Amino acid sequence: LDHHRGALFVENVSVSFDGFKALNELTLYMDPGELRCLIGPNGAGKTTLMDVITGKTRPDAGEVFFGDRIDLLRLSEAQIAEVGIGRKFQKPTVFEQLSVHENLALALKQDRRVWATLRAKLTGSERDRMDEAAVLIGLAENQQRLAGTLSHGQKQWLEIGMLLLQEPHLMLIDEPVAGMTRGEIERTAELLQALAGERSVLVVEHDMEFVRSIARHVTVLHQGHVLAEGTMAQIQSDPRVIEVYLGE
Ligand code: ADP
Repeated sequence: LDHHRGALFVENVSVSFDGFKALNELTLYMDPGELRCLIGPNGAGKTTLMDVITGKTRPDAGEVFFGDRIDLLRLSEAQIAEVGIGRKFQKPTVFEQLSVHENLALALKQDRRVWATLRAKLTGSERDRMDEAAVLIGLAENQQRLAGTLSHGQKQWLEIGMLLLQEPHLMLIDEPVAGMTRGEIERTAELLQALAGERSVLVVEHDMEFVRSIARHVTVLHQGHVLAEGTMAQIQSDPRVIEVYLGE
């Protein structure tokens, strides 16, 4: 059922490491197409939550469903990727010695036979999808450039483009704007807003100006559970949130 595509239900999830509760009965729902910012002090459990959603970490308790009731806790990491959950880690990992175009082609084809993929002709629709991605990430004029010569921000966008071409219904993006210039941060906010809608986007970010510019829906984690949820304006005036951030 297509109207559930990208919906996420995380319910009462707990994860312990040697008795320490990294996630403590955490509940979080995402609507299809939503752009959600996940914030919270270091150690709040943001990475652990991403690890649970992608199957890297198995919770001790709770439920995680995706789309039309797909039980993620019964799937392997590879199967979770196949049902449409893609993740981008904080550091850009593009193929520096290959061009922007080749990086995008590899992501599109998702084939282990790298050289065959690079030599293969793209179909018309594949070319269209690649061009569309290149335009979205602002690299349409740079397709022949080696990825290694791109700025830090451009590498992050390239990797987001590569993730996009794998056609996930939910994108998990970890601290995309760390190390970016102000201008790059603004472009990244526009990019993520453009990506949401057709797919859900969950972004972990510390940069409050960036979060404010996206602003629609923010979840604050603290000590493994959801401390507050709402618009940036609601979050910022919440005394519990102020206490946690001032106490950091
Ligand atoms: P955040 O991403 O919000 O900074 P994390 O999810 O990385 O928080 O960590 C939450 C807590 O769980 C931290 O106190 C961290 O030290 C602990 N933790 C995370 N992963 C492990 C692990 N593999 N083994 C032990 N403790 C861990």
